[in-house]
Amino acid sequence: MMRLLYQGVPGVADATSAVSAESAAKLGPASISGPRSPFPCDADTLHEECGVVAVHGHAEAARQAYLALYALQHRGQESAGIATADGQYLANIKGMGLVSEIFTDDVLEKLPGPMAIGHTRYSTTGDSALLNAQPIRVDSTKGLMAIAHNGNLVNLGNLKMRLEREGAYFQTTSDSEIIVQLIAHSQAATLVDAIADSLSQLEGAFSIVMMTRDRIFAARDPRGFRPLSIGRIKNAGAPDTAIFASESCAFDLLRAEFVRDVLPGELVMVTEDGMTSRYFASGVPQSSCIFEHVYFARPDSRIFGRWVQESRDQMGRQLARESGVPADVVVPVPDSGVTAALGYAEEAGLPFRFGLIRNHYVGRTFIEPEQRVRDFGVRLKLNPVHNLLAGKRVVLIDDSIIRGTTSRKIVRMVRGAGATEVHLRISCPPTISPCFYGVDTPSKRELIAANHSIEEIRRFIEADSLAYLSLEGLLKSCNGGEGNGYCVACYTGNYPTQWVDVEEILPAAATL
Ligand code: SF4
Repeated sequence: MMRLLYQGVPGVADATSAVSAESAAKLGPASISGPRSPFPCDADTLHEECGVVAVHGHAEAARQAYLALYALQHRGQESAGIATADGQYLANIKGMGLVSEIFTDDVLEKLPGPMAIGHTRYSTTGDSALLNAQPIRVDSTKGLMAIAHNGNLVNLGNLKMRLEREGAYFQTTSDSEIIVQLIAHSQAATLVDAIADSLSQLEGAFSIVMMTRDRIFAARDPRGFRPLSIGRIKNAGAPDTAIFASESCAFDLLRAEFVRDVLPGELVMVTEDGMTSRYFASGVPQSSCIFEHVYFARPDSRIFGRWVQESRDQMGRQLARESGVPADVVVPVPDSGVTAALGYAEEAGLPFRFGLIRNHYVGRTFIEPEQRVRDFGVRLKLNPVHNLLAGKRVVLIDDSIIRGTTSRKIVRMVRGAGATEVHLRISCPPTISPCFYGVDTPSKRELIAANHSIEEIRRFIEADSLAYLSLEGLLKSCNGGEGNGYCVACYTGNYPTQWVDVEEILPAAATL
C-alpha cells in the first residue's frame, strides 16, 4: 500500500489514504511498495534536496505541476506533493515515492483549481516521513497557505527557539514550517509585507514557492544559492499562464517559454491582475551553487543565466587542457560524466565511447541490502563494454569523488574488462568540505579529499593517474551567468554565510 496525505481536498476527509497494491503494481517496476533505500552505489554520490514548481492561470494547473515535477524528478525521489487552489479551496496531496507513483489520474482529478505548487524531495533536514513531505499546508493568522522549499537554512536553531518563545508550535522538522511560522508571527500589515519581512530574517539557501487561495509567490535567497526560473505559456485571447520551476527543463515539457530567473533577494507575486516583484534583500554578494552546473542540474536546463550543457562541455575541455594524458579512448561514467567527457574527447582529439553502460531499471526499490549486496552495487548499476575497453588506454571521466569507494570499484571494473591503463579525470576540484546549503554531503571525516593527497587517493582507487579540474578552471568553465558569483565552499571550505557548524568541518583523520 502507498500512503498519501490528503489535506483540504474537496469531498475527501483530511487523512492518509492508501493506494491499493493493485493500482500501484500497474505503475511499473519502480512503484513496488515496501522499505526503500537509496541504491547501494548511491551511498557514495551526492544528493540534491528538492525541486519546486508553481503554476498560475491554467485550467489544469495540477497536471501542469505534475509534468513539471516529472521533469524535475532528478532533484529528489523520496516524496512528492502538489497543492492547488481555486479561490475557495486550497487542497494538498503528497506521498512517499516518485511523482508518477503518487499522482495517478485518479489522484490528480482530486486537485481542482487554476493555481498549483509542487515539490519533489530528497530529505536532508527533517525526517524522511510523509509529514515532512511538501508542500506544507498551514492555516495561520495570515490565512491558509501552502509552501514548498528547495535549499537549507543555516539559522534554523535560533529562529525556532525565538518562535517557540513567542508561542509557535511546530508540527514538522522541516525548514519550510519555520518560514510559515515567521510569516504567521510577523507584525507586518499585509501578507506580502509579512512574507518579505520573514524572508529577510532567513540565512542560508532557499528557493521558495508559496500559494494562498488566490495568489502565488516565488522567492530566492539573497545569495541565489539554488536556481528558480520564471516561464510563461501564451494563451490565445486569455492571460498568460505563469510558471516557476527549479530548472528550465520543466518548461520544455509544458511548452512554456523561459522568461528569466527569479533574481537573488527577489519576491515575485502573481495574482489575477498579473505579476509584480519586489526585493526583500539587496547588496549581498551572489553565491550560486556551482555544483548545480557540475552535477545536479540537467544539461538541458539553463540555470544562473547559463546552459548547464555548455558549462559541462567547457569543464571537459578545460580538464583536457590542464591534465591531458596519452590515451586511446575517452569513457564517461554515466550519466553525469557524459557531457564533460564529450568536451574532453573533442579537445584532446580522442574517440569518445560509451564503455560503461548504466542499468536504469534497477535500484530505487532495492530492499535494505545486506553488506554483501552493497558491495555488489556498482556492478548491478554499471557494466563494462568489453570490446571497447580491452587493450585500450582509457581516460575515465567522472564528476566527483566523495568517499572514493565507488571510484575504486569503477576503475577495477574498467581494468577488469581489459583496459591496459585507466586514467581518472574529475570535472571539478577535490571535495574537501561538506555543504550546508541543501546538498546532502557526508561529514568532513568521510570525504576522502579532505583527508588525503591526490596521490594517496590515486593509490586508493588504483588508477594509473588521477587529476581534478582546478578551481580556476571550473570557475572559467561556468563563467557568464548572473555576475559570475558562485559558491565553491565544498572545494575551499570558505562558506559564504556567517554561520557554519564548526564541529562538522573540523579536520578529522581517515584511513584508507
Ligand atoms: S558548498 Fe558546494 S554544494 Fe553546497 S552550495 Fe556551495 S558549491 Fe553548492
